[in-house]
Amino acid sequence: MKIGEVVSFLESLAHPSLQENYDNAGLLTGDSSWECKGIICSLDAIEEVVDEAIGKKFNLIVAHHPIIFGGLKKINGKNYVEKTVIKAIKNDIAIYAIHTNLDNVLDGVNGKMAKMLGLKNVSILSPKPGTLKKLFTFVPADKAEPVRNAIFGAGGGHIANYSECSFNAEGEGTFKAGPGTNPYVGDIGKRHTEKELKIEVILPSYLENKIAAAMKAAHPYEEVAYDVVDLSNSNSRVGSGVIGELAEPLTEEDFLILLKKNFQLKIVRHTVFLGKKIKKVALCGGAGSFLVSKALASNADVYVTADMKYHEFFDANGRMLIADIGHYESEQFTINLLQEILEQKFPTFAVLKTEVETNPVRYFL
Ligand SMILES: [Zn+2]
Repeated sequence: MKIGEVVSFLESLAHPSLQENYDNAGLLTGDSSWECKGIICSLDAIEEVVDEAIGKKFNLIVAHHPIIFGGLKKINGKNYVEKTVIKAIKNDIAIYAIHTNLDNVLDGVNGKMAKMLGLKNVSILSPKPGTLKKLFTFVPADKAEPVRNAIFGAGGGHIANYSECSFNAEGEGTFKAGPGTNPYVGDIGKRHTEKELKIEVILPSYLENKIAAAMKAAHPYEEVAYDVVDLSNSNSRVGSGVIGELAEPLTEEDFLILLKKNFQLKIVRHTVFLGKKIKKVALCGGAGSFLVSKALASNADVYVTADMKYHEFFDANGRMLIADIGHYESEQFTINLLQEILEQKFPTFAVLKTEVETNPVRYFL
């Protein structure tokens, strides 16, 4: 198996175009044409993890955080980033980062956190705008089925948990084939009227080229008439944070006890108890202060995240509990998530979780 196959699979779950514009997810070192000898999953691809890969004779690290983030202007081994990159390149270790693109899909970092708390009715907290388009095409009625199949096969027509969604309306198309053409129906130089179906399908923006190519390949016409338009609808499966519900309401204290147990926490930093029950839980792994207002607007009883600054705790405004559980702690099960999805896809292949505790923060209790 080539490293490129692993990358393509991961990108089918969390497309690179879904990463934030400041991010640097993707293949950071190595070559997708290399034969993959084994995969290590980690939150951070630091030097010790590269050592671990070398020791196990593996050559692919799939990490959440991109070790090359702000760009490299010199590579002299003067800091941990340069040291890691030099060691990876010298030892032919590929490092692949799946970062905010994995944060921004429902079944990614935050969906995994929701599972660890047993939340139900989980949805995206802040849907990402501009991620949906609509495709219209016009096809002779008897050729509509293969065109629809091609569009669905390339990933079009998904609405939440429904697939193969389309709308089909009958109508008449006209065209006059010009010199040098080879029309599927009608004669050159004469206006032709054809009974056609107008097929409408919703699609994720990042699949536009793939779906258009598949649609054209299945379409009988020499020149395929189609329109793609941007939608302002929000995509229920793409965006930041998630929100869901506990099966049974808990007191604030019991909720924090559950949080400590399920995330193996030593400590939780939280806002003042409000004396209300916790049912609706908003979550965002890693630095999540940017979603406090969204959590409030969604009537969450608690917002679980990390990297909250002193003043940001005030933003709860006495209306919701904020629980800061630590950056590593909030995202730690992403390692399990990566291993589970890779192992399921490539069952005969060696996929391991790192044994290195990459959390740079320790607690002196
Ligand atoms: Zn993070």
